[in-house]
Amino acid sequence: MAQFRFKALEEMLNRKPDEIVREENLVSDYFGMLVFDKAKMKKYLSREAYKAVTDAIENGTTIDRKMADQVAQGMKAWAIENGATHYTHWFHPLTDGTAEKHDAFIVHGTDGGVIESFSGNLLSQQEPDASSFPSGGIRQTFEARGYTAWDPTSPAFISETTLTIPTIFISYTGDALDYKTPLLRALQAVNKAATEVCQYFDKNVTSVQANLGWEQEYFLIDEALFMARPDLMLTGRTLMGHASSKDQQLADHYFSSIPTRANRFMQDVENEAYKLGIPVKTRHNEVAPNQFEFAPIYEEANLANDHNQLMMDIMQKIARKHKFRILFHEKPFAGINGSGKHNNWSLTTNTGVNVYQPGKNPKSNLQFLTFVVNTMQAVYDGQDLLRASILTASNAHRLGANEAPPSILSVFLGSEVSNMLDLMEEAVVDRKMTPDEKTALKLNIGRIPEIILDNTDRNRTSPFAFTGNRFEFRAIGSSANNASALIVLNTLVANQLQKFKVAVDKLIDNKGVKKDEAIFQVLKELIIKSKPIRFNGDGYSEEWIKEAKKRGLSNVNSVPEALEAYLKPDSTKLFAKQGVLNESELRGRVEVEYEKFVMKIQIEARVLADMAINHIVPTAVEYQTMLLENVKHLKDIFSPEEYEEMASGRLELIREIGHHVSEIKAKRKAMTETRARANKIEDVHQRAKVYNGEVRPFLDDIRDHIDKLELIVDNEKWPLPKYRELLFVR
Ligand code: ADP
Ligand code: MG
Repeated sequence: MAQFRFKALEEMLNRKPDEIVREENLVSDYFGMLVFDKAKMKKYLSREAYKAVTDAIENGTTIDRKMADQVAQGMKAWAIENGATHYTHWFHPLTDGTAEKHDAFIVHGTDGGVIESFSGNLLSQQEPDASSFPSGGIRQTFEARGYTAWDPTSPAFISETTLTIPTIFISYTGDALDYKTPLLRALQAVNKAATEVCQYFDKNVTSVQANLGWEQEYFLIDEALFMARPDLMLTGRTLMGHASSKDQQLADHYFSSIPTRANRFMQDVENEAYKLGIPVKTRHNEVAPNQFEFAPIYEEANLANDHNQLMMDIMQKIARKHKFRILFHEKPFAGINGSGKHNNWSLTTNTGVNVYQPGKNPKSNLQFLTFVVNTMQAVYDGQDLLRASILTASNAHRLGANEAPPSILSVFLGSEVSNMLDLMEEAVVDRKMTPDEKTALKLNIGRIPEIILDNTDRNRTSPFAFTGNRFEFRAIGSSANNASALIVLNTLVANQLQKFKVAVDKLIDNKGVKKDEAIFQVLKELIIKSKPIRFNGDGYSEEWIKEAKKRGLSNVNSVPEALEAYLKPDSTKLFAKQGVLNESELRGRVEVEYEKFVMKIQIEARVLADMAINHIVPTAVEYQTMLLENVKHLKDIFSPEEYEEMASGRLELIREIGHHVSEIKAKRKAMTETRARANKIEDVHQRAKVYNGEVRPFLDDIRDHIDKLELIVDNEKWPLPKYRELLFVR
């Protein structure tokens, strides 16, 4: 056993960083070379087919069969020229990760051989066997059919030798079975609502696009050490392991020099990402040892999210090439920082204005404030839904720990924007303003850009922070599909903007209030109403928990409880009204989340039980036997007095080991019984509650005894790589 452990270490120490060969000298030369982007479409498509696709991308028009055929021919020609032999519809089912089923281009030819073929039909729609994807009961087994349908807004690309076509995944009845369908609907909802509000300020605005810039955190672990840890292999996190004496106390990893092996891995990933048109820009060491981050330049949200999923896939594949494994789990190691995926989110108009970017004059600043205030109100009203969208079995370990946003939602605006809102709250009164008051207010509003430019105050403890020209939603887990959070965020903002418009129009139409003043008045109401969610202080502090409670903000850490927010009548109404998810889709989705939660805890419980009984208990007993032998020999050789003195410490150790072993065995048995009882509960919501409240605590309890044993059992005998090896050997 011990030998295996050291062999794994030895293997690791002998590794050499891979040499990287860049495709070309300049990234700009090969960026997007494997993407069927506009430049390639122009080359491979007829003018009318090109127009059909670009219209679909820009204006959401549909592409008819004839055009689809033409596009398919062009795509096929390009793909085959670039080495593709297969094509696939690529989608985001409600599992962790993406799905693809490759088909070769070949069909029978007329002379008994085969020819390469691809058609508009195959491009536009396919029917994968959907019965094994989770649907939460939407798709009854008698109607197991599911369809994938082409999403022309996210360009096709070549992955190895397969032409990969991004698609949505829906049931026979048109219900969404994936993340992308409702994401596209939510983006459409926010587009519509934001456009209408923007028209108060600029009639030329005809569409608004949501942007996403994700920051992906991850751990890199050597493959040999990873393989020696069944818990990492099967659950993505360590279920046991005593803290290393040194970990992140000295903050000496964050932004430090990137280890060469890791750097080579990153270069290789970037190389592949660039070919696929993913604009990766930033790489750095994160806070925890062996923790790193990648971030791209932001893009349109749907495309950016496809790119994030693709990137996670590339990272996993390239990691193997470099004899690493990636951990995307939110909390792979107890006691040190976990990983998140910040979502930087903003809205830009077709006229090129970012509505979260303070403008150059009072008018555009009023637009800026309108969007900031409405977003704040949306987060306030939707705090429970936002939490439900990001809380999972794995992310629950991270949230509320002292390194990640708490499970209380709040919005950080920075003191300058906050002061501005305070000013508006005081200045605007629900009567006609005097011209002087109006001028003063406009002057103040006009000052925002200077203020923000030298505003360096960056709060890292807020789950939802304004960062100068965007909001950064930081509570998202590193393993998540961003769509889960983006669906909720964009739906909430769309809904709030709609309400805002109704309120403003009412003042204008019914009371004859002038537009600007009507906007001021409604904003004032919202500023007052949403005040409890505005918080610029330390989100990790104990005081905030108390303060938040006083303010009436919710604080939920349990996944099953958090998920209930989705099914409240207000929520089902909201998603239906915005056309994002109908009630049955929503129910199905929540069902899937409950199932996933139960299964993840169930797997962890099984793995822990196996490791405790197969790895830990035998090792501890072996060491205990050694000590017992030793005590026997002492007794044979030494005088009773001398024996007494020498044996007492050893006997204590023997008892201590005995105690931990008995506790592990007893707790494992109790855990198994609890699971058996829980598994009999028909209703998955109730089952999830028992798993959360009763099964989960055993994981910590058992681990505690194992970690204590790790400290006393002979190091040579310990069968698993320890934290200090997993995190520091490079
Ligand atoms: P940080 O200091 O938080 O690490 P960075 O400047 O590295 O921030 O940016 C993080 C992410 O935010 C990047 O993906 C970046 O492209 C994105 N980002 C920048 N501006 C915007 C914006 N207006 N809208 C959306 N994302 C943005
Ligand atoms: Mg950031």
